[in-house]
Amino acid sequence: TEETLVLVKPDGVARGLTGAILARIEAKGYALVDIRLVEPDRDRLAAHYAEHEGKPFYEPLLEFMMSGPAVAIRLAGNRVIEGFRSLAGTTDPTTAAPGTIRGDYGRDWGLAVQQNLVHGSDSSESAARELGIWFG
Ligand code: ATP
Repeated sequence: TEETLVLVKPDGVARGLTGAILARIEAKGYALVDIRLVEPDRDRLAAHYAEHEGKPFYEPLLEFMMSGPAVAIRLAGNRVIEGFRSLAGTTDPTTAAPGTIRGDYGRDWGLAVQQNLVHGSDSSESAARELGIWFG
């Protein structure tokens, strides 16, 4: 079976949406293997977001991710990487499809970073790397 790394980002935790997001994941049928509240520091986030270093939203993204606690989840199931990204919706919450986590709970807050509630690994290579960063 496959595993992925899901983060409920600080906006999701601050808005009290952790339970609603977990309920959707559980209702979809994926298995929670491990879960922890994390207070990510810059080094961990720099590792996690290495591919975005140098982009205009990189610094705001790290500041946002350090703005409060997040929840890291090790999630398992057949095709869970693809399945969770489908559940999350597309990156921009303004246009993410209704019925998805981002589409139902997210919006544009006029900030330099898209606060879009969740992260999910985008490939098996990313999942292995990111699970090592958050649960290693
Ligand atoms: P994630 O990796 O968090 O699941 P994603 O794969 O949909 O999201 P990425 O392209 O990997 O998106 O970008 C990582 C994060 O950086 C996004 O989730 C969002 O918070 C932020 N971000 C991405 N693109 C932009 C942008 N153009 N402007 C502002 N913030 C952005």
